[in-house]
Amino acid sequence: MVQNRVAARRSDADRSSIRARRCTLDATQESGPSVRATQFAMGTIMSYTVFGPAARASLAAACGEIERLDSLLSRFSADSEIARINRGAGREPVPIGPQTHAVLLEASAFSRRCPDCFAVTVGPLVDLWNIGVKSLHRPDQSKIEQARGLVNDGDLILDPLKPSAGLRRAGQSVDLGAIGKGFAGDRIREVFHRCGIRAAYANLGGNVVAVGSRPDGLPWRIGIQHPRDTDRLIGCVSVVDRSAVTSGDYQRYVTDSRGNRHHHILDPSTGYPADSGLISVTVVSPGAMVADALATALFVAGIERGLELLEHYPGTDAVFVHSDLRVSITAGLKHRFQAGQNTEFTIMD
Ligand code: ADP
Ligand code: MG
Repeated sequence: MVQNRVAARRSDADRSSIRARRCTLDATQESGPSVRATQFAMGTIMSYTVFGPAARASLAAACGEIERLDSLLSRFSADSEIARINRGAGREPVPIGPQTHAVLLEASAFSRRCPDCFAVTVGPLVDLWNIGVKSLHRPDQSKIEQARGLVNDGDLILDPLKPSAGLRRAGQSVDLGAIGKGFAGDRIREVFHRCGIRAAYANLGGNVVAVGSRPDGLPWRIGIQHPRDTDRLIGCVSVVDRSAVTSGDYQRYVTDSRGNRHHHILDPSTGYPADSGLISVTVVSPGAMVADALATALFVAGIERGLELLEHYPGTDAVFVHSDLRVSITAGLKHRFQAGQNTEFTIMD
């Protein structure tokens, strides 16, 4: 079983040893000859299991591709293309490469479709809430208003033909936290495909990419973590050639003195962590980027608007966990979702 949220369970010692090693390959014999690799990139742990004669070569290519994407897309490394766009906010657009251009075009298409839910210019709010850098903390209301005023994907200047990008106002910044790992997941699927791999899975910090089916012909089973109990699964989905991505309020959060949970998925219209009645959303889709961006957007949108949004993405399904731990799944998962112990679920036909 592939654990969707495996990254959250690693110990600090595990993380630092993986960080130090960058990309490691180990041969295993688990359910047929396979090669595994782990890598620290994009602020998280990535792991891969690949079957077949080209496994080793494909993994070297996959790890290289992830390192390259990380160096382009991370807003925290000073020479990335995203950092250059952010430094140039309020000035002329800067030239960028085709991949950064592609991910930004896709991100702005998502925010046009999911206005108020998905914002790739969410950077000022992410900084204010200290997401990704230090521990999250609750900022002053006036500061939230100020940062919220800077979040506007309409201010992202993108030429559809020429690879360049800019931000209209000083202080604005792009943050690919909700879509970058998904974009990378699609590139990894391409790498495996090019190498002729027919059975593999990758877990890019909770974004699972399942290639083909298991070597024994059965579907891959992807576990979905219980949002309130790290030792349990809320269920699992059986998939062939799909990606599954979860956005939840339990991945990065702090609890304040009044017991309120402040997590890392922000509602761009309020400037606060989203409070839509959902605590976890898993999206299962042929595309990893679609799954990643939609998981975040649906988490913010809530179930009603979320279902409307899903209609635009054929072949894409979701598992919603409500704040009272009820589970709702879309009809396409009817025969592919297995509930965990004591989990009740409804199918939305
Ligand atoms: P994870 O980072 O755990 O994979 P998500 O894919 O849901 O989870 O992305 C959350 C990240 O995306 C945040 O850490 C932040 O960088 C960014 N983000 C937060 N809220 C939004 C939003 N409404 N729209 C786009 N990006 C967001
Ligand atoms: Mg996401």
